[in-house]
Amino acid sequence: MFETLTKAPGDKILALMGEFAADSRPTKIDLGVGVYKDEKGVTPVMSAVRKAEERMLSSEKTKTYLGIAGNKGYGEAVLELVLGDSVARDRVRIAQAPGGTGSLWVLMQLVNRARPGATVHVSAPTWANHNPIALNSGLEVATYPYFDPTTRGVKFEQMLAAIDRLGPGDVVLLHGCCHNPTGANLSEAQWDQVAASLARTGALPFIDLAYLGFGDGIEADIYGTRKILSSVPETLIAFSGSKNFGLYRERVGAAILVARNAGEAETAYSQLLNIIRGAYSQPPDHGAEIIRTILTDPALRAEWEDELATMRNRMISLRKKLSDAIRERSNSTDFDFVADHRGMFSLLGLSTEAVDRLKAGDGVYMTGDSRINVAGIPEDRVGDLAEAFLTAIG
Ligand code: PMP
Repeated sequence: MFETLTKAPGDKILALMGEFAADSRPTKIDLGVGVYKDEKGVTPVMSAVRKAEERMLSSEKTKTYLGIAGNKGYGEAVLELVLGDSVARDRVRIAQAPGGTGSLWVLMQLVNRARPGATVHVSAPTWANHNPIALNSGLEVATYPYFDPTTRGVKFEQMLAAIDRLGPGDVVLLHGCCHNPTGANLSEAQWDQVAASLARTGALPFIDLAYLGFGDGIEADIYGTRKILSSVPETLIAFSGSKNFGLYRERVGAAILVARNAGEAETAYSQLLNIIRGAYSQPPDHGAEIIRTILTDPALRAEWEDELATMRNRMISLRKKLSDAIRERSNSTDFDFVADHRGMFSLLGLSTEAVDRLKAGDGVYMTGDSRINVAGIPEDRVGDLAEAFLTAIG
């Protein structure tokens, strides 16, 4: 059987992690892998998560099946977090799914059942896994302009013009906040325009919400999603609890669908559950029960929101420190965009050669597209990094 296969391409980030681990220089810096790290360089278990787990350990009475849609209380809590009062609940359905990735997967499968071979329009660039998930689901992929390598902001006019040309049957994948890999995001006024465009053309918004709370706070980060929800008849949302709850390996996410009316929501949901049943039957519960416990307990929720704010503020402060350090050394504002970006990443816009030089010469690791994880910046090495970046672009 297997002699028919050729080797699939390896995962670039995993390869980069391997290279970093093999580098013996004590001064090496890892800005590659996409996980949050604290000032000690570790990805901690959040204290609210630990407390929720302790409660679960003492109160859990059974591990019997929960059903295809997973943990119902989790679903309700996530809807409350995401929707606010943007949309009538009878048009909304949610199924817990394994991570943001699993949520994207089942929703793309749903799109393909509704419109076989439909085109998913993704930002240029986008998260490297969007493309394969869409293609593996039988969909086509096209791109719309997004990142401007000169300003390192969003090419908004071109983006909007491209979205304006789409129509019913087209899917527009949007990063709800904290765009990966660029770090460049839409302003509220720009979200308003995108929502108005989608309402006009009838293209279907599909929102990837993997970093809620990592940008400017939960309310600010959810603005665009809610604006779209209140503007258009149908929306898909892939929610992830990997980053904001630090639950990466627990694989917790949610697939949310919003339909024109309760009847269509129920029909579409029956297809979604059918997709899940035929794929992995039911999602794992542990991470979902942690999130349910935290979101439904006022004290734990407050503790989680505080911890999330600490992570967010640390990233914002590292952004500012790096851009200040570069400005001091270069007398130029060329790197100010790092402070304007939000979320865990910034796309520096460096050439592949510059990325290679940084790695070989300075032991600074980032992905080949020159994306840095700002949470990986060691506080005491900001000056070194500023110099390394200036030399690399020099
Ligand atoms: N979407 C984006 C944009 C992401 O960056 C990620 C995580 N790297 C995900 C979705 C999915 O994350 P997970 O499956 O780990 O929840």
